Amino acid sequence: MHGETVLHEAFPLLTSKTALVTGSTSGIGLAIASALAGSGANVMLNGFGDASEIETIRKNLERAHGIRAGYNGADLTKPEQIDELIDACFETFDGIDILINNAGIQHTAAIEDFPPEKWDAILALNLSAAFHTIHRAVPHMRERGWGRIINTASVHGLVASKEKAAYVAAKHGLIGLSKVVALETAGAGITCNAICPGWTLSELIQPQIDARAEAFGGDIEAGGRDLLKEKQPSQQFVTTDQIGALVVFLCSEAAAQITGVALPIDGGWTAQ
Ligand code: NAD
Repeated sequence: MHGETVLHEAFPLLTSKTALVTGSTSGIGLAIASALAGSGANVMLNGFGDASEIETIRKNLERAHGIRAGYNGADLTKPEQIDELIDACFETFDGIDILINNAGIQHTAAIEDFPPEKWDAILALNLSAAFHTIHRAVPHMRERGWGRIINTASVHGLVASKEKAAYVAAKHGLIGLSKVVALETAGAGITCNAICPGWTLSELIQPQIDARAEAFGGDIEAGGRDLLKEKQPSQQFVTTDQIGALVVFLCSEAAAQITGVALPIDGGWTAQ
């Protein structure tokens, strides 16, 4: 049947593709790496954490999905380590077809109290690291005539919240960078998009939930509900698996003409 064929072709396996997922030792990045591995892609993991736990994650991905998984612990606030990470992708996998710029950190403080060193670190990781990886990966994608670049921005790339000067500035910048790369690569088989999650349960937002829980006698669930109530109309957290599935879709042929967008996955946050 024609419809079935289109559907089948719209979601091809990503077998023979290689994905670099930055910040993939936990949270959203780990779910994206798992979803891509589940679609047949080899993955290069990156991020911080306990060495034996990361090795377990790496081996489990290989066993569960019959793919090859590597790990490189580059600190992406340091451009020379980004270069080493990209070199490692070329040495281990012969390239990068799918680049997911996902590593990110947060710090909350009013502008007059915001530590300059936190500003520098957040801009370096949440924005500049994506420039450095894209700068290295695009020539290779052009040679192959195929590539997918997906930058994990945030609803905070589209709208602001108080006490997040560096994060909001970096995420808005990341969306701008995504649009420029989309224009420069349009028609070359390469797409570049930003995804914009709302509240998603992970280590990154745990301090904000903990802070709110204090008002409810330390009740963490009440703290989480309070966080959602303020911004996210669905009153439900986005799940990391939902974000992984969105990324797989953006890597599919069905999404070949989706480029330069900043796509919210936010339970209605930015519709308000
Ligand atoms: P997380 O803390 O679980 O994951 C962050 C990842 O980045 C980890 O793997 C960590 O080891 C890695 N990392 C931290 N510093 C690094 C460095 N200097 N070099 C290399 N890797 C580093 O948090 P998460 O929520 O999964 O965040 C992933 C991305 O999603 C971030 O860019 C974040 O801004 C974005 N995001 C999160 C939410 C949310 O509600 N959790 C919402 C919108 C966007």
